[in-house]
Amino acid sequence: MSTLQAVRGMHDILPEDMPYWARLEQTLRDLFDAYGYSEVRLPIVEKTELFLRSIGEVTDIVEKEMYSFDDRNGESLTLRPEGTAGSVRAGIEHGLVQPQQTHKWWYSGPMFRHERPQKGRYRQFHQVGIEVFGLEGPDIDVELILLTRRLWQMLGLSTVVQLEINTLGSPESRHTFRQLLVDYFSAHRDRLDEDSLRRLERNPLRILDSKNPDLKDLIEGAPRLHDSLDDESRAHFAQLQAMLAGAGVAFVVNPHLVRGLDYYNRTVFEWKTDRLGAQAAVAAGGRYDGLVAQLGGKSVPAIGCAFGMERVVALLQDLGVAPAVAQVDVYVVLAGDAAVRVGFQLTEAWRDAVPGLRMVVNCGGGSFKAQFRRADRSHARWAVILGEDEVQKQVITLKPLREQGEQRQVAWMMVGATLKSLCG
Ligand code: ATP
Ligand code: MG
Repeated sequence: MSTLQAVRGMHDILPEDMPYWARLEQTLRDLFDAYGYSEVRLPIVEKTELFLRSIGEVTDIVEKEMYSFDDRNGESLTLRPEGTAGSVRAGIEHGLVQPQQTHKWWYSGPMFRHERPQKGRYRQFHQVGIEVFGLEGPDIDVELILLTRRLWQMLGLSTVVQLEINTLGSPESRHTFRQLLVDYFSAHRDRLDEDSLRRLERNPLRILDSKNPDLKDLIEGAPRLHDSLDDESRAHFAQLQAMLAGAGVAFVVNPHLVRGLDYYNRTVFEWKTDRLGAQAAVAAGGRYDGLVAQLGGKSVPAIGCAFGMERVVALLQDLGVAPAVAQVDVYVVLAGDAAVRVGFQLTEAWRDAVPGLRMVVNCGGGSFKAQFRRADRSHARWAVILGEDEVQKQVITLKPLREQGEQRQVAWMMVGATLKSLCG
């Protein structure tokens, strides 16, 4: 019989990887607390229409990457490919996203895109994202970037990530730019790949986002949006750069940074690394001032960004930023029937006496020797031994495994206090 495997591009995160994830998640949580962002938890499944109306019909995501299916009533649903559309939907639905009101949210969870799986690119992956509603000026753009910079500092990743920024201007200025692009790429039609040819007709900006190395030169030489920018967007971008410089943030202006979703305008940014091959972006975001209105809400400016968790974890692993091994204080060896009979009563009392005590109680029996082997593998600092002899005398034997000191016996009544002084 063939064994079952996970769906291609969807991964199990196993205990050995978890310390990296836990460290990253805890750091993010602390950071969001420190900057005053509130957590939201939104459904993983949304109506397909939400993504069609927000991400844009002529994007890779909507054209070929969505996991869509019909619900039992025939309605088309989709596993969310990103978190912004759902956030805006929720903000409008609950009447939270209103002019003159500010909301700062963060979310985390799995996203689904039917991409070609490779290192750093999966079909189920995880994002932590931030959305800010109600602020128009570049100050909030700077805050998101500063928050992100602080994350890299806290994780020890500052030296391997670089910030790239760009502006996409207003919808009007993009319209002018679009025509310039069509003219340029049409003149070089013979050099375009199949994807880009299709984009040329329907969404030429997307060509700038191509990951095909053969197109790099051609894209390098393409017209720049900056030359068609409207005055307000130009001023917004100039202010952004001045404030970033003022805050001591190093950045590069990448005039071809366009992002993979259609709802962005003005500021866009990506944090990139050269450590993960072609999957260079570890976090990305931008303004989406038109999206709330586009989805039926009032006109409310907004900005967001998302971290690609697998890629950040890969960086932590790549740099060997070893997280602390999960610590066990005590491993309890229970040898013989009498010990097993009283074991849980005693160990539960010790847990009461020492809150937070990290104690593994031997389950599944085994010889003394086998249980000691398990105790050793658990990295416990102490072994507490309960055998026939101990039960009879109403004591335990306390044996240091990774600590200084002699093996000794402790009366049952005193074990709680002893563990508290050793491990509390
Ligand atoms: P890319 O250019 O790498 O395809 P994107 O522009 O599609 O990324 P966003 O939709 O902005 O990315 O998502 C934000 C972040 O989520 C990315 O910067 C990346 O770190 C991560 N990410 C996106 N798609 C994947 C994926 N398929 N697998 C793993 N991480 C991903
Ligand atoms: Mg993509």
